[in-house]
Amino acid sequence: MLDAMNASPTIKGMYIDGSWVPAARTFEDLNPSDNSLYARIPDGSVEDVRRAIKAAKAAFPAWSNMRFHDRAHYLLKIADVWESRKDDFVAAAVAEGGGWFGKGVFEAGYVAEVFRSAAALCYQNIGEILPSEHGKFSMATRWPLGVVSVISPWNMPGILTSRGFAAALAAGNTVVLKPSEDTPYSGGLFFAEVLEQAGIPKGVFNVVTCSRESVGAVGDEMIGNPTVKAVSFTGSTAVGRHIAAKCGAYLKKACVELGGKDSMIILEDADLDHAAKAANFGSFMHQGQICMSTEKILVHESIYDEFMRKFLARAKKLKTGHTNDKDNVIGPLVNTRQALRVKALIDDAVGKGATVELGGNAWDNFVEPTVLTNVNSQMNIWHDETFGPVVIVVPFRTEEEAIAINNDTEYGLTAAIMTRDEARALRMAGDLETGMCHINCQNINDEPHVPFGGVKASGVGRYGGRWSLDAFTELRWITLDRGGRHFPPVF
Ligand code: NAD
Repeated sequence: MLDAMNASPTIKGMYIDGSWVPAARTFEDLNPSDNSLYARIPDGSVEDVRRAIKAAKAAFPAWSNMRFHDRAHYLLKIADVWESRKDDFVAAAVAEGGGWFGKGVFEAGYVAEVFRSAAALCYQNIGEILPSEHGKFSMATRWPLGVVSVISPWNMPGILTSRGFAAALAAGNTVVLKPSEDTPYSGGLFFAEVLEQAGIPKGVFNVVTCSRESVGAVGDEMIGNPTVKAVSFTGSTAVGRHIAAKCGAYLKKACVELGGKDSMIILEDADLDHAAKAANFGSFMHQGQICMSTEKILVHESIYDEFMRKFLARAKKLKTGHTNDKDNVIGPLVNTRQALRVKALIDDAVGKGATVELGGNAWDNFVEPTVLTNVNSQMNIWHDETFGPVVIVVPFRTEEEAIAINNDTEYGLTAAIMTRDEARALRMAGDLETGMCHINCQNINDEPHVPFGGVKASGVGRYGGRWSLDAFTELRWITLDRGGRHFPPVF
């Protein structure tokens, strides 16, 4: 049992201009395993965001002009402080986010590397020399943008929050972060504690928390405020569309990473033991609440029965329950709204003729790992992102059919292909409409230095490595004439 992990953190306030400040109101942050109160969180206002943006603007000149290796040292210091507080993060992710202990440990380790890889960005080239018709010294150069607004989700509060702002800081921008109302501590105020301890200069990093009721107005200010130059968003496609449209209207940069409806394709020559293990992880890790979760398993008809036997045998061993027991690999959905939504998707499918091969039971905020077959495109679960521990399995006959089913979605985040024929898989990868494709692995893959992102309704822009610099810098053309440019004599 992890009773100590259920302890509530001390909430010092929002973090603005290097100080902890209260909001006029607070909101309740619940532990989804039992809906008990985890913490009372400041419910920030538009006025609070304005103050945070003003502080970030004031901090920008010094931060952006700082020697690049000093910025890198700050990022490395953040990684070290983060590591020293790993256990606190794991406890928060388990109790506040409803995640399995092992998922929290994985996240905690990953986040330190996000900051270290961001530190490495400080040493990357910041421009290119171009040939010039006139013999000029012609440069394409990268410049920090200014203040970047960061809006993060609850499902991976450590990784997705750090990914949202670490590269932005490395590039010389200053940040105002608004974490999800479901993980305002582990995805927001905890970071403020870490960055404060790392000695980050005041105003460079600010955190404003707010409730779901306040987020419309607070979010609008984070986008529309003239000082904000770009928005870094990870979350649902519905909200991401709204944010990208607003950014478009203001002609501001937006990097938006959104939802997915990802398929794993298992071809007739796949290693089925490996495929069953991978599918189990891809479908049920963190209750399927990962943008890259395997939501559709497409299985060649010749190996369908054998795969199902192996897959179901593994999946039925997963235990569901309160996250204070480390054996419960399947914790609760993040809140009651999400649990009801997932249950409704199961009911809709079953009502229209789907077969429940495993699970199907739901109570409080919990949904058992559930496997559905006999599904079709009339069912909501065929198209809607489930974001729960539910996977559909669909047999296919030809490669073309598998590719068509994979592409039959508005989303395009990841795909996975299981086969011993690498050449065939690489050829198929070209036809799959996704930003990422993993051969002989499941869908959930990320590393801090890779170009992470989707196509179609899964987002615009890439996080990770040098590709983050496209999101968080402005490219400017600067030339130096050395007498080579001649003008018509009439001038
Ligand atoms: P969400 O869109 O409901 O919320 C995301 C963030 O947006 C939260 O901080 C929320 O407070 C904020 N928000 C909500 N309304 C807003 C508004 N009007 N203006 C400004 N901000 C607003 O998403 P969620 O439920 O927190 O996360 C789950 C979703 O995120 C899933 O769809 C999942 O697929 C997606 N996701 C995508 C990725 C990726 O990298 N592609 C990663 C993780 C999660």
